[in-house]
Amino acid sequence: MNKDTILTILILLSLLLGVLWGQFGLFDASVSDEVIAQTVQPYQEIGDLVFIRPLRMMIIPLVFVSVVVGVCAIGDPERLGLLGGATLAYYFTTMAAAVILGQVLVNITKPGVGADPTQYETAAVQAYATKQVSIEAGQTGGVGGAFQSLLQDMIPTNPIAAAANGSTLGMVTVGIVFGIALVMTRDPARPVIVVFEGMFQAMIKLVTWIIWLAPIGIFFIVSAKVGQTGFQKLAGPIGLYGLTVVLGLLIHMLITLPLILWLLGRTNPYGFLVAVRKPLLMAFSTASSSATLPVTIEECQKKGGCSKRAANFVLPLGATVNMDGTALYQAVAVTFLFQMFGVDLTLTQQMSILITAVLAAVGAAGIPSAGLVTMAIVIGAVNQSLVRQGLEPMPLWTIMIILGVDRILDMCRTAVNVWGDAVGARLITRLAPDTDDERAQALA
Ligand code: ASP
Repeated sequence: MNKDTILTILILLSLLLGVLWGQFGLFDASVSDEVIAQTVQPYQEIGDLVFIRPLRMMIIPLVFVSVVVGVCAIGDPERLGLLGGATLAYYFTTMAAAVILGQVLVNITKPGVGADPTQYETAAVQAYATKQVSIEAGQTGGVGGAFQSLLQDMIPTNPIAAAANGSTLGMVTVGIVFGIALVMTRDPARPVIVVFEGMFQAMIKLVTWIIWLAPIGIFFIVSAKVGQTGFQKLAGPIGLYGLTVVLGLLIHMLITLPLILWLLGRTNPYGFLVAVRKPLLMAFSTASSSATLPVTIEECQKKGGCSKRAANFVLPLGATVNMDGTALYQAVAVTFLFQMFGVDLTLTQQMSILITAVLAAVGAAGIPSAGLVTMAIVIGAVNQSLVRQGLEPMPLWTIMIILGVDRILDMCRTAVNVWGDAVGARLITRLAPDTDDERAQALA
């Protein structure tokens, strides 16, 4: 058995043990959420220390270096523009496809129809108090505000501050412009490009070491999260809502994206899925696309056959911008909540969900629960149209009705987010393989 298979088995085992221990060893339905939180805290902290922190340590430097290396490898800025356009087109079409799928499914399963929201009110209002500030801020700004802050994030005034604040998007921009400058400077800049290449290789080496911590880290993180919520909450209308999200995610992951990859990328999609299984498992365990990013970059290139030109550029951008799973989940969640409140959404309102869910997913950071917060933007857009019709808007505490199942859904949607990024990198590899020979072959 080779090292890679051993590692995959260990990761799967630790995931399984984490779920079992969380559910049967830690979760206790008879005690309050605070008591459970205390029980699971040490697990959370160990997982964080052993695995999440080392991974996060890599994100910012790796994003910067990998984008610079990717841009230098692409070379010609015109070609970069072409690839950028293709990448964005891919991100937005697949996110829109995911939202439409979610909308179709939730209109078939109708999990919220006939459910009584008042039974969840006390707990939801209480939970809402802890996130009120960020949720309201998201809603007040609306789509325009979210877009503005995204643009501001993209153009940092101080790259060092952007790095220190962990702004992946800011680092992507700085990496792109610096990379272009290096290419255009030609000879005097060549040694710098070589240094960046070396740094990139060394960082990838570090990531291969960190991956070996996954089996330990994943056990602790997953048992803490499952121990916190348990699976019992997957019952009633909320259970049906959760199943609708999971069904949508499975269809998008196993049918829609593979079809695109097969048709446009001429790649065996399921072979590719198996090849990039590690980042998918990490995404599922950590519920963070950003924390998974170092592993995604490493594995897509080493195992998935993605070119440096494509992966180094498509993946860092995708980790914050491209979130198919989040977009789908937001469409289902918002429609579910409005169903509960007895609102029959019009076609125009469904269209506004389509647009705002894509934007809210773009605006969500690659961290746990980010999608839950930016969902306020989608609700806000529908509320506006309700008010125009002279109807009552839906209160924002309703978001917290789905809090109980959110972590589990977060794990699933994050895996789909990362899968969407990986498929994008594989597709763009066809347009930008690493050598001219490969390019000719890929385009043949
Ligand atoms: N956790 C997701 C991610 O990192 C974002 C979200 O939907 O909350 O990709």
